[in-house]
Amino acid sequence: MGSNCGWECEWPPALLEAAEGLPLKNLRVHVGNESSRGELVITRYGLEGPPIYRMGPTLRNMQRPELFLDFKPERTAAALIDRMGRVQRNFVREARRRLKLDPGTAALLQHLPDRGPWKSAEQIVAEVKRCRIGLLKPRPVAEAISSAGGVAWSELDEGLMLKNHPGVFVAGEMIDWDAPTGGFLLQACFSTATHAARSALDRRCDGPRRKPPASDAQ
Ligand SMILES: Cc1cc2nc3c(=O)[nH]c(=O)nc-3n(C[C@H](O)[C@H](O)[C@H](O)COP(=O)(O)OP(=O)(O)OC[C@H]3O[C@@H](n4cnc5c(N)ncnc54)[C@H](O)[C@@H]3O)c2cc1C
Repeated sequence: MGSNCGWECEWPPALLEAAEGLPLKNLRVHVGNESSRGELVITRYGLEGPPIYRMGPTLRNMQRPELFLDFKPERTAAALIDRMGRVQRNFVREARRRLKLDPGTAALLQHLPDRGPWKSAEQIVAEVKRCRIGLLKPRPVAEAISSAGGVAWSELDEGLMLKNHPGVFVAGEMIDWDAPTGGFLLQACFSTATHAARSALDRRCDGPRRKPPASDAQ
């Protein structure tokens, strides 16, 4: 299964028309008890971006994966309501101007199903602070930066050799581990590959000598 990858969700056509490819900057993404700061991008199929990549393991364990976006993590709801002043209509347009929301956020507030029409500053600010997005599934593994799953550690000996297939060694993403991007994946691949290669060499030198080929036996 894909890891460090985008997630799919169902965007209404009007939202896609307004916001496909737009970034959602400086937000905080909440998933369960975890949260992560950063930037997401609205894509044709869902969402991409480092915060959602980091939350992948938690999302994969959820029966109904969902996340909550806080578009203004550095401001309290009370402060945002204060900034909205005495607005009585055009809530999305006013929120965009007064709260300095980016166009992608405004498009979500405008077009996400079951949210509007907004009737008060309190109501729209509550959505700005906690906007629920239900997710369907991660993007296919072919598109992912890395993969989750693989050969279980319990199937390997200390030298990363398959217990059930002596002489066969595994390394890198063949093994069941996961890590965030930023060099951790590559480091784990280099480390496990070096260890498996050394183990294979040790086994070749120390292990039972193979029967020499017929030409050498003379
Ligand atoms: C777009 C992208 C960006 C990334 N950025 C980062 C990053 O910034 N930092 C980071 O740490 N990691 C990053 N990664 C992840 C990192 O590249 C991988 O974790 C790492 O390359 C995995 O190494 P691996 O040797 O396990 O597998 P791979 O690199 O996939 O190597 C497997 C090799 O086996 C070959 N192969 C497959 N099947 C067969 C077969 N049947 N016979 C023979 N050969 C076969 C394949 O052709 C391939 O060459 C990124 C990955 C992607 C896709």
